[in-house]
Amino acid sequence: MSETKKLNEGAKFAHATVGNVADFSGKAFLKDILGLTGVEVSFGTLEPGQAVPFFHAHKDNEEVYIILTGEGTFQVEGDTFPIASGSVVRVSTGASRNHKNNSNVPMNYICIQAKEGSLDRCTADDAIITETEWVSGFFRWAMGGSAV
Ligand code: ZN
Repeated sequence: MSETKKLNEGAKFAHATVGNVADFSGKAFLKDILGLTGVEVSFGTLEPGQAVPFFHAHKDNEEVYIILTGEGTFQVEGDTFPIASGSVVRVSTGASRNHKNNSNVPMNYICIQAKEGSLDRCTADDAIITETEWVSGFFRWAMGGSAV
């Protein structure tokens, strides 16, 4: 079972870790530790042969499942389809869903849920390019960069 830790926070941000994603195990919800107000994000693991222990649906939130490792089967209502590392699955409100790991390695995944129909602006419609510069002493983000 991986441990989620808050690493640091400021007036306008919170930073936590679930540890090395490749080694993650268990289930971790990030809403409380990050103070999320518009989405819930969770990391989950299904061991080989394991499925989520229940089918469920959501009343208000759509969900997006991002499969990081493993291969398996996803079911939404009466539809089933294969999933694997790199699969991204959106499920609408009111739809019963589950997924299962059919592979021999742990299936790690991220689940994001947000109120269905709430996204009225995103990316270029919502972003503002600012004039902020890197604080001195932080590393450049390019590979091989050095402290500035
Ligand atoms: Zn859910």
